[in-house]
Amino acid sequence: MQPIDHFYPQLDKPFKAVVTMHQKPDGDAMGSALGLYHFLTALGHDATVISPTNWADFLNWMPGVKKVMDFENQREKARSLIETADVIFCLDFNILHRTKHMEQPLIQAKCTKVLIDHHEQPQREAFTFGISDTGKSSTCEMVYDFIVKSGHSQLLNLEIAQCLYTGVMTDTGSFRFPATTASVHRMVADLKDHGLQHSQVHDNIYDNFLENRLRFIGFALVNRMEVLYEYNTALMYITKEDLYEYDIKTGDTEGLVNYLLTIRGIKFGALVIDRNEERKWSFRSKGYFDVNSFARRHFEGGGHMNASGGRSSESLEATVKQFKQVIKEYQIQLQ
Ligand code: 5GP
Ligand code: MN
Repeated sequence: MQPIDHFYPQLDKPFKAVVTMHQKPDGDAMGSALGLYHFLTALGHDATVISPTNWADFLNWMPGVKKVMDFENQREKARSLIETADVIFCLDFNILHRTKHMEQPLIQAKCTKVLIDHHEQPQREAFTFGISDTGKSSTCEMVYDFIVKSGHSQLLNLEIAQCLYTGVMTDTGSFRFPATTASVHRMVADLKDHGLQHSQVHDNIYDNFLENRLRFIGFALVNRMEVLYEYNTALMYITKEDLYEYDIKTGDTEGLVNYLLTIRGIKFGALVIDRNEERKWSFRSKGYFDVNSFARRHFEGGGHMNASGGRSSESLEATVKQFKQVIKEYQIQLQ
């Protein structure tokens, strides 16, 4: 992978681009992809955003989202766009398998591939150019840097501002996580200068759910949470029946894991959800407990030091049991 600034000169000649991100895109993945899409379009390139899977309803207000293709619904068309692209931008993921069924088409595509990402341990050999910076708050912040450092800050506009603000806001927990640097606030000031109404974005993302989701959270906190005080850890597990009973859709469980860290003294929060094809883990920590390593070592996952995810093919009961077993190794680290 060559440094991203070696790619900048190619922005001057029109190309056909595909922009993609990790499966089940969150605010940062969708925000960075759409922010980059609006930038590339403003520069005169022919760009299409392809999401590997569907996404949460609370992202559907975003400018440009109606043109985003869902690979799982439009495989033939998406495959042909990937095959004929000159440049593929890969945003907010570090390993190609995070794009699920798009992994093979992406490997087979022989064009220029550009990575912009902030996850640990990227698969460098898979990309022609790129930047991986785990110190960055979000991929949206990195797309902002990409626009500014490539010399095109005059193209920043309100649509780009709305998209990029979304990811910075969601990935920093609304500007509270340690990666919220002075540069993040300077960037937000610049986005405000482009007309950003930030409280609208907060309302669109966080105050836009149906009643069932709030009742589900109440149910889960009362019935599905265990606090393991000897490990300063809180665990939550959600069954398939819970999802069905409360009519829980993609995105409704986003943020649930964060409640676990609101208990005084809790340093490690772990949530597992029984999805159809797998048991999906979300891990969050405070301080130096490294949940990226934890997810890699025990649950086929990864991510960041304080936020990661993983999976298991075992039953819900078995994966919870496994968690309670392996956590014993970390008792000293978690004190
Ligand atoms: P979440 O718990 O919100 O799904 O994910 C937390 C963070 O870990 C996100 O940055 C996400 O991209 C990353 N992540 C989630 N699941 C996986 C996984 O299975 N593998 C890797 N490498 N990263 C993951
Ligand atoms: Mn991100």
